[in-house]
Amino acid sequence: MPTAPQHEILFEPVKIGPVTAKNRFYQVPHCTGMGYQLPRTVAAMREVKAEGGWAVVNTEYCSMHPSSDDGPYAFCTLWDEDDVRNMATMTEGVHRHGALAGVQLWHGGMHAPNRYSRMTPLSVSGSPNFHAAPQQTRAMEKSDIRDLVRWQGDAARRAVRAGFDIVYVYAGHDYLPLQFLSERHNRRTDEYGGSLENRLRLLRELLEATREAVEGKAAVAIRLAVDEILGDAGITHDGEGREIVKALADLPDLWDVNVSFTENDSKSARFSEEGFQEDYTRFVKEVTGKPVVGVGRYTSPDRMAGLIRKGHLDLIGAARPSIADPFMPKKVEEGRTEAIRECIGCNICRSGNNEGTPIRCTQNPTMGEEWRRGWHPDTIQPKGSDGQVLIIGGGPAGLEAARAAGQRGYSVALAEAGTEFGGRILRECKLPGLSTWLRVRDWRLGRLTELGNVETYLDSPLTASDILEFDAAHIAVATGAEWRRDGLGAHSLNGVSGIDSGVILTPDDILSGTKPPGESVLIYDDDHYYMAGAIAEKLALEGYKVRYVTPSTVVSEWTAMTNEQGFIQTRLLSLGVEIVTGHAMESVDGNRIQLHCIYGGPDRECTADSVVLVTARVAKDALYRELVAAGAENVTRIGDCDAPGALVHAVYAGHRFARELDEEVDPDMPFRRDRVVV
Ligand code: ADP
Ligand code: SF4
Repeated sequence: MPTAPQHEILFEPVKIGPVTAKNRFYQVPHCTGMGYQLPRTVAAMREVKAEGGWAVVNTEYCSMHPSSDDGPYAFCTLWDEDDVRNMATMTEGVHRHGALAGVQLWHGGMHAPNRYSRMTPLSVSGSPNFHAAPQQTRAMEKSDIRDLVRWQGDAARRAVRAGFDIVYVYAGHDYLPLQFLSERHNRRTDEYGGSLENRLRLLRELLEATREAVEGKAAVAIRLAVDEILGDAGITHDGEGREIVKALADLPDLWDVNVSFTENDSKSARFSEEGFQEDYTRFVKEVTGKPVVGVGRYTSPDRMAGLIRKGHLDLIGAARPSIADPFMPKKVEEGRTEAIRECIGCNICRSGNNEGTPIRCTQNPTMGEEWRRGWHPDTIQPKGSDGQVLIIGGGPAGLEAARAAGQRGYSVALAEAGTEFGGRILRECKLPGLSTWLRVRDWRLGRLTELGNVETYLDSPLTASDILEFDAAHIAVATGAEWRRDGLGAHSLNGVSGIDSGVILTPDDILSGTKPPGESVLIYDDDHYYMAGAIAEKLALEGYKVRYVTPSTVVSEWTAMTNEQGFIQTRLLSLGVEIVTGHAMESVDGNRIQLHCIYGGPDRECTADSVVLVTARVAKDALYRELVAAGAENVTRIGDCDAPGALVHAVYAGHRFARELDEEVDPDMPFRRDRVVV
C-alpha cells in the first residue's frame, strides 16, 4: 500500500550539515547493555534498525577516553584503532541500508567512576561521585580541560575513520559538559565558571574541536538537556536552557534536545504520556535555524506528522519506539500503520543497561537476539513440517507463540479458557498507569486476524484428554501462574504464619475486583517489582488507609532497573501511603500483624482490616504435568506456566517456542557467543 498522504511529510529528506537523512525517522542514541564488550551483537541490532527504515541510527554512549568509564555497565568506546575497526562493523551495517550512522561521544565526569580503567575520576568542581563510589572526582585543572577538548577531537577523528556520518557533543543526562553548564555542579571561579557565557565556554570549545576534527566529512550534533526537571535548582527550558540554545544556535549542524536525567528522559508510560517532552523542547526551533530532533515515546504517525507540520521538530527521535518496532518507518511508508508494534513504555529495555546485561524488550522478543540467534523483528523462517501446533492459553506467551508459529506457516490452534484473549494483561492493564500494556495483546491479536492458518477458540478450557484427542504434532501449554497465598517470597522463604486467622488477599483477588473488607489494608511486598506498589496506589486512590511493608530498603525495589523506583515511592507518599521498609511479615493473628525488623531493630505489631500478600507466584502447570504423565512427548510449557516472570519473559518464551519448532537447537548451548577467543 502507498504511504498515507498525511504521513508523506515524514519521508522528506533532511539536510544535516554535510550529510542528508533520507527521511525524518531518527533513532536517537540509546543504551543497549552491549557496548564495546559485544561489538557484533550491537552492530547487528543497529543494522536491523537501518533495514527497518530509520534514516539515522546512533550508537549508545560512546566513551571518548578511558577517564570516562562506566563499568560494569556496557558502553561503546572509541579509545583506539581497535575500537575504530569494531565500530566500523556498525557503520557498515547501517550504510548497507542507506541510513546515516551517528556516534554519541561521551564523557561522564562525575558519572564515570572509572572502576575498570582506574583513572582519576574528573568533574567540573571536584564533586563526590554520582554513584556514591568511595573515590571522589578531581576538579578539572585547565590542563585537564585542554585534554578533554583534545580527547573529543581525537575521538571525533576516529569516529570519521570508523565511518560515522554524525558526531555528537553530548551535553545531556548530567554528563560532563552539562556539569560545566549547570550552576548546581559548576563552582569554578575561572573563565569556565560563573556567568553563563563562562559555563558555556567548554561546550563551545568541544563543538569547535569536533567541527575541526571531522573536516566536513561528518555532521556535528549536540545533545542538550534543555531542562533538568529540577525547577529553579537546575537548568530550565524557559531560563538558561533557552539561553544556551540561543548562544550556540547555528554552531552545531543538528540539535538533539531532551530533558535530564535519564529517569525523566525515558519516563515509563506509568508516569508519562506520549509526547511528554514537547512542552520543554518546543522552543528550540524558534531560536536555531538548524534541524531539531526531539523524543517523547512517539508511536502515532499522525502525531509525528503533526509535530513536523506545526514546526516543533524536523526529525522524530525515538529510542524505545525503535526498540519495540525497528520496522516502524517501513510500516508507515508502506501504509501499514496498524501493524506498528507499539512500545508499551514498560522500560524493561532500560533494565538491560541497569543490570549490566544485553537489552531486551517486552514487545519485541527479537531485540538483542539479532546476532546471537539470528532472529529478525519482521521476518521468520518458514515452517519445518506440516505438523499442527496446539497452544493452550491465550495470555502473552500463548498469543506470541501462536502468532510467530502462524507467521512461519504452521497450522495453529489457540485455545483460551476465558471469554477474552490477553491472560494476565487483561487484568493488570487496569492498574493505575498500565493501560498501554494492553498493546502486547492487541498487536498480537491484530496479526492473528491477518493469518488464515491460525484458528482461535475462546471459552475453551481444555482438559488433558481434549488435548490428546486433538493429536497435534506440537503442544504448548501457556496456562500462566497464580499468586501465592502463604506469604512465601524472596525474603520470607518460609512464608507467613497464621494466615488462616486473617483476611488475606492476593493480587489475583484485587485484580479480579475483590474489594478488601474494612478501611485499612496492609500490603506486604516481598516480590519487589511493580505489583505491590501499583496495588497500593490503586487502593489509596479508592480511599483505603494503606500501609506498605517490605523487607527491602525502598518501595518496589526492582523498579530501579526500569528507572521507575523514585517515581513510585514519591507517588505513594503523595497519596498518604505509610511506608515501612526493612521489615518482614512474620505472622498474622486476626487483624494483628507481627513485623520483624530484618536489621535487628525492634519488631513491631500493627493492625489492618485486610492484608494483600504480594510475594511470589506459582506456575499453573497441572495440565502440563497430566499430559507428561499420559506419555505426551511433544509438549512444552512456556511463559508463566514454566517459570513465573514479567511480560517480557512470557512473550520471549512464546516466540522462542515458535522459532524452535522442528529446528535443531543444541539445548546446552542454544546461541552464539560474542567474545574474544584467545
Ligand atoms: P502467560 O503470561 O504465561 O502468557 P497468563 O496467565 O497471562 O500466562 O495467561 C494464561 C492464560 O491461559 C489465561 O488466559 C488462562 O485463562 C488460560 N488457561 C489456563 N488454563 C487453560 C486451559 N486448561 N485451557 C485453555 N486456556 C487456559
Ligand atoms: Fe517499549 Fe517496554 Fe520495549 Fe522498552 S521494553 S521498548 S519500554 S515495550
